[in-house]
Amino acid sequence: MRNQQATQLIFELSVPGRRAAIYPKCDVPVDSVKELIPSGFLSEKPPALPEVTEPDVVRHYVNLSTLNMSVDTHFYPLGSCTMKYNPKRHERICNFPGLVDIHPYQKEENIQGILGILFEMQEMLAEIAGLPSVSLQPAAGAQGEFTALLTAAAYFRDHGQNRTKVIFPSSAHGTNPASAALAGFDCIQLKQTGNGLVDLEELKSHLNQETAVFMITNPNTLGMFEKDIATISKMLHDVGGLVYIDGANMNAIMGQTRPGDFGGDMMHYNVHKTFTGPHGAGGPGAGPIAVRDFLADYLPGPVITKTEDDDGNDYYQLTNPVKSIGRVRSFFGNVGILLRGYLYLRTLGAKGVKEASEQAVLNANYIKALLKDILPVPNGDLCMHEFVASAADVQKKNGISAMDIAKRLLDFGFHAPTVYFPLDVPEALMIEPTETESRETLDAFAESIKQILSEDSEYLHDAPYSTPVSRPDEVKAARKPVLKWTEPGK
Ligand SMILES: *Cc1c(COP(=O)(O)O)cnc(C)c1O
Repeated sequence: MRNQQATQLIFELSVPGRRAAIYPKCDVPVDSVKELIPSGFLSEKPPALPEVTEPDVVRHYVNLSTLNMSVDTHFYPLGSCTMKYNPKRHERICNFPGLVDIHPYQKEENIQGILGILFEMQEMLAEIAGLPSVSLQPAAGAQGEFTALLTAAAYFRDHGQNRTKVIFPSSAHGTNPASAALAGFDCIQLKQTGNGLVDLEELKSHLNQETAVFMITNPNTLGMFEKDIATISKMLHDVGGLVYIDGANMNAIMGQTRPGDFGGDMMHYNVHKTFTGPHGAGGPGAGPIAVRDFLADYLPGPVITKTEDDDGNDYYQLTNPVKSIGRVRSFFGNVGILLRGYLYLRTLGAKGVKEASEQAVLNANYIKALLKDILPVPNGDLCMHEFVASAADVQKKNGISAMDIAKRLLDFGFHAPTVYFPLDVPEALMIEPTETESRETLDAFAESIKQILSEDSEYLHDAPYSTPVSRPDEVKAARKPVLKWTEPGK
């Protein structure tokens, strides 16, 4: 049954004259106000706002909010996006007045608390990366990539090297080539290899004095650890190039191994993925980067450094790296998300971080084991924190597509996994459970997929049945979105 009430717009609930609150008549004569405002700015009619009572407003928005799928309400196995549970304790601490009521324009000496927190965050991110220098500025993973590539470009320029090529595997996230192109590099995409990993011979054929950076996600987008990463890094370093680790999948390896130790020179974190920042629908993010020492001078400023005040106490300062590429974002970065990430790391501690990645990998392998006989996983026997199954076989046999499965899962109360990415797996379903899900939830999810695969394909083509909108025209929704209500007749 579709939820009719929530499909109505608040404008459609409007009845002339209805109000949430009725105020006493204003005793300032209207004409005297009109004299204060230049006539060109006065409208002839009041704006076309909905006229509704207070309960109408409250019910409308509360009902709308219950239609959302979220990590607080549903299992959300959205591969590559690491939709982690956001601990409520951290939300509460983030709302302490000493944190929410400060402003970045305050004097440095008056915001020592938050600067101290951000300094420690820099230190923890450097430690987990195995790369010593951190900039907290970038506002998301994509901007982190872009910032690191500008940093690398500044380094090459400073050393009189003309390196123009950025290389990446075909399973790379779309932001990798986009960042490279935006930073002024030429892009070279490797072909997919048979086993889902980088083909060293093919990579080698592209390496030369023009090579600037190889961008690689590890574990990669198929949920497989690039086991030759140390060799790959050496190959890059031998021709004077740099290795960029896309850290979106750090949830699989944090506390287990470090990008700096397997040869990475630069990386970004997605704090909103790996470290529990709430995100979705283009929401808030933080994409700090960590780099090797020799790149530190080029990082965007300000970075936070620790010194001592006259009494010998810790004092935190905002400083600019000497050859900085400049700013990439206002102030110190997206502090709200960085703070949540900081709290997550402090809550877990070194041991807890390691256990979290183990649990994430275990959960993914558990679902994979439950499903692999009905939804084959073309690459890898064991996976890391996520895996990519293919519905190509069931589509051929029963006419059930990855999209049908994803849509029908909504009726079972599960958010859909990522579908049709990476592009080189046909009918891809990318499943990432994260570490906090119980065995019961994982079992129920696998059971639902089994049930869906036993259903009639015609029935599945019209799913979901429990949502107010079932199957929007995806192309039209992306190309011609209707984002605002227009008064009838306008
Ligand atoms: C999410 C993601 C990105 C982009 O990160 P944003 O924070 O969304 O900008 C880059 N690479 C991979 C592999 C990702 O999953």
